Amino acid sequence: MNHLSTCRICGVQNNHKVYDVREMMFGTREVFRYFQCTACGCLQIKEIPDALGRFYPPDYYSLNLKPERGIHSTLYRKLQKQRCRTALFGEGFKLNSLLKKHVELPEALFERAAGISTGEVLRKSGIKDFSARFVDVGCGAHSNWLMHLSALGFYNLIGVDPFIKADIQRGNIRIYKGELGNVHGQFDLITLNHSLEHMPQQLEILQEIRARLSKAGICLVRIPVVSSYVWEKYGVNWVELDAPRHLYLHSLDSIIYVAQRAGLVLKEVVYDSLPLEFYGSEQYLRDIPLNDPDSLWVNPDSNIFTAQEKASFATLSTKVNVERCGGRAGFYFQADSST
Ligand SMILES: [Zn+2]
Repeated sequence: MNHLSTCRICGVQNNHKVYDVREMMFGTREVFRYFQCTACGCLQIKEIPDALGRFYPPDYYSLNLKPERGIHSTLYRKLQKQRCRTALFGEGFKLNSLLKKHVELPEALFERAAGISTGEVLRKSGIKDFSARFVDVGCGAHSNWLMHLSALGFYNLIGVDPFIKADIQRGNIRIYKGELGNVHGQFDLITLNHSLEHMPQQLEILQEIRARLSKAGICLVRIPVVSSYVWEKYGVNWVELDAPRHLYLHSLDSIIYVAQRAGLVLKEVVYDSLPLEFYGSEQYLRDIPLNDPDSLWVNPDSNIFTAQEKASFATLSTKVNVERCGGRAGFYFQADSST
């Protein structure tokens, strides 16, 4: 079915193909209409609901994540930071050879709070020292990404999220209830970990990011991607569609287009699909919401899938990442110096 609509990303008016998508995280099964732009490929909700807050109840997952806790002594943590400094910035080489024998690198360096490992993000972003300034946009109440950075020794750590109850101070992490526009300063790494797709004004937020990047600053945008195997396979049952919270499911073309308009140029794309992409979509095909007590998301021991099926979800998520056709990816942008 097609309908006359205007794309909110590229402005093309056409008879774009429409899709009716059910709310399936909580399983209300309320139907929301989406359309996919024939020009840029962006899949988007036709009407942005007025009161978006009602779709983020207190049990929405990112408002409820528990902070991770360390188990090591203060001295051990100090030594770990020294090892980490060497691993990240190449400092203190001689000391490090001794430390290597007795102190392991912090797990936070390898954690995948940001899908991609923290160490990999830091290296790709060219972070040079512990004074680097970070902001995590749309981070929820407990940004594990910021927690990992704090554990590694970084201290200029800010988060913003409009849906948390109030401002939060946790160690050297400050999370503000609000938007990027509500905090001051320039940043060396701006992260949007699955938050851009929730924001009504795509161009405006990317322009704000462009204005807030330091000279060599990087923005990492992690989003679901509609130009993917999972969208082709599952269509409206694709778990990442997450109606109506995901207002935009970008194609590669549409995210690059809107970022360019905002003065950002693409450096690199990294695919970071998880097994969830497959088991969640299989569940929606079987009419099982993500938050259902039998859901694999809620109960990892759930027997709605065989062991063989569970293994296949992991295999498939790895395969689509390698073949660069997964349903989620991270886009590294930097400021376009010519704008
Ligand atoms: Zn378009």
